[in-house]
Amino acid sequence: MSQKIQIEDHVTVGTLAEKLSLPVSRLITELMKNGILTTINERVDFDTAQIIVHELGLDIELTKQESSPLEMVRSRAQREVISEKAVSRPPVVTFMGHVDHGKTSLLDVIKGSQVVKQEAGGITQYISAYYIIHKGKAITFLDTPGHEAFSAIREHGVRLTDIAVIVVAADDGVKPQTIEAIRFAKQADVRMIVAINKIDKEGADTNRVKQQLADQGLLVEEWGGDIVTVEVSAKLKQGIENLLDMILLVAEVEDLRAEVNVPARGLIIEAHTETGRGAAAHALVEWGTLKKGDYIVTGATFAKIKNLESTDGLPLLSATPSMPVVLTGFKTLPEFGDEFEVVSSEKLAKNQAQKIVSSRHNANGRVDLSSSDLIRLINRTNKVQYFNIIIKADVRGSLTSVVDSLKVLDTDEVAVRIVDSGIGMVTENDIYIARTSGAVIYSFNVDIPNSIKRLATRDKVIIRRYTIIYELIDNVKSELSKLLLPEIVETVQGHLIVKAIFKTTKTEVICGGETTKGPLSLPASARVIRDKKIIAEVEEITNLKRGPQDVQIVQEKELCGVSIRTKNRLELQVGDKIEFFTRQAIERTL
Ligand code: GDP
Repeated sequence: MSQKIQIEDHVTVGTLAEKLSLPVSRLITELMKNGILTTINERVDFDTAQIIVHELGLDIELTKQESSPLEMVRSRAQREVISEKAVSRPPVVTFMGHVDHGKTSLLDVIKGSQVVKQEAGGITQYISAYYIIHKGKAITFLDTPGHEAFSAIREHGVRLTDIAVIVVAADDGVKPQTIEAIRFAKQADVRMIVAINKIDKEGADTNRVKQQLADQGLLVEEWGGDIVTVEVSAKLKQGIENLLDMILLVAEVEDLRAEVNVPARGLIIEAHTETGRGAAAHALVEWGTLKKGDYIVTGATFAKIKNLESTDGLPLLSATPSMPVVLTGFKTLPEFGDEFEVVSSEKLAKNQAQKIVSSRHNANGRVDLSSSDLIRLINRTNKVQYFNIIIKADVRGSLTSVVDSLKVLDTDEVAVRIVDSGIGMVTENDIYIARTSGAVIYSFNVDIPNSIKRLATRDKVIIRRYTIIYELIDNVKSELSKLLLPEIVETVQGHLIVKAIFKTTKTEVICGGETTKGPLSLPASARVIRDKKIIAEVEEITNLKRGPQDVQIVQEKELCGVSIRTKNRLELQVGDKIEFFTRQAIERTL
C-alpha cells in the first residue's frame, strides 16, 4: 500500500522535500526538469506537488490538509463544533453569472447607488463588500467583478460566500459564465439562489431558463428540486424584496453562526494605497470581534488598526462576523485573499509577519505556480520566445486578475514572462529592472509621474498605461504575436526537364531545358527530381535565358537556359526535372 502524506494547499519546496524524505536538491532538480525554477523557500501548489511525486515514481499518496481556518468556518461539519455562545451572523452573498445579465444592476438597486457608472469599459474593477439591513436583518453583499478576466477574483469571491445568487437574464438564458458560476458555487459548497432577471424584456422566457438550469443539475423548487428561484427586473425594481426575503430564508435554514467574544479573524478582500492614509484594506470579519487599535497580522504584513470603518466610510469602534470593513495602519499592502487574525501585541504581529516573509518568496504580488502552469511548461519546447513585462496595478485584486488573464495567452512557442509585479505607481526601480531585463512596463489604473516618464525616455523603456483590462491583454497578445515565427508558405511555379548541361562548378550549374509546366519566373528557388525522388535542393535560380536573352519569365513549353546557385557540387543529369518554387513568410497572430 502506498504511503499517505498530508500537505497543505501550498507548500514550500523545503517542506515538501522534508515530507517526501528527499534531498531538497533532488526536488529542485526534478522541478527544474519540468521547467520550474525554484528555490527552497518558494511555494508550489498541491497539484504541482502531486505531479512531481508521480514523475519521481514515488509510491506516495498526497492528501490535502485543511489549512485555512476559512475552510473550517465554512465547512458544514465544522460549524457544529462552535460553542453555545456563538451567535447568529448575517449571510455573505455574492452575485454571479454571465456578463450583462444584470449583476451590477441588481446590486445597484439593492444598494440604491450608481455603481454601474463607475465602471471602466463596462467591467466592475474591484471587489468590495457592503452591508444592508432588510426587515431588521443584515445581509452582506460581496461586489464581485463581472468580466471573464476576473474569474480569479470570482473564484476567491465565492470562497468567502455563504449564498451565491446566480443571475440569469430571462431573455438570454444560461450562458458559459453562468455554467462556470454554478461550477464555482458547487465546488465551494455554497447554497445557490437563482435570480431570473430582465423579466420585463420581450423574449423573456423563465421556463426555458428553468429547463436550462435543470440541464446543469439545478432543479428548481416548483419542479421538485431544492433550488430557490426569484423572478426579478432590476430595471423596473421588481421582485427585489422577494429576492432579499429568499436570501434571509436560505440563510436561516443554513443557521449561520459565529463566535463573537474571541479575537477576530477574517479575510482581506481588497487592498490599495490611499493618499494620506497609506496601505488600506477592505476586509471581511468572519469570526470574533474586531476593534479599533487591535493588532492584526495578515500574510507578510501587520497593522495596529488605526481606522476601522464601514465600507461606506463611517467610523466604527468594533465589527462583528460578516461585517465588511475598511482598515488602515498596515506597514505594507496586505494580499488579496489572505486571512487576517488579531494577535495580542505588536511584537507578536511583527514576528509572525516576518516568518511569512521568509517562507513566502512571492509576498510581493507574484503568483504561485499551479498545476496548469506546470503542464504548460512540460509541454513547451526550449524554443519558447518570451515577452518580458513588469506589471504595476492599483490594487491587489486587479493585479491578480491581470496576471491570471495573461497566463492563458502562453503557447508552446511564445509566453509572457512577468519579471516583476506590484501595487502602486511605476517607480525608478521598475525602470531599472525594465532596462536590465528588456521588459515593457504595463501600468494598470496607476499614474506615471512625469519624472518617471522622463527617466523612461532616457533609458528607452516603454511604459504602457491601461484602465481597461482586456485592452491591456490585447496589447500583450499583439506583442506575443510579433514574437511568433512567421509561417512559411511554399508555392510551386512549375518545372522543366533538363536537356543539356553546359557548365558545372562547386557552386554553380548552367543547363538548358524545356518548361513542362509553367510559367517559370524569377526570383525562385528549386529542387531537383530524379526518378520521382528529390535529390537536391538548390540555393537559388540566378538567371533565366531565352536564346541569348536574359529574361525574368519563361512560358510553358518554351526552351530556356538556367543558371543555378548551389551549396554543394550538383551533378545534374539530362532528364532530371527541376521544380521551381517560391517561399513566402506570412505573419501569424495568436
Ligand atoms: P452585469 O455585467 O451582469 O453586471 O450586467 P449589468 O448590470 O451591467 O447589466 C447589463 C445591461 O443590462 C445594462 O445595460 C442594464 O441596464 C441592463 N439590465 C440589467 N437588468 C435589467 C432588467 O431587469 N431589465 C432590462 N430590460 N435591462 C436590464
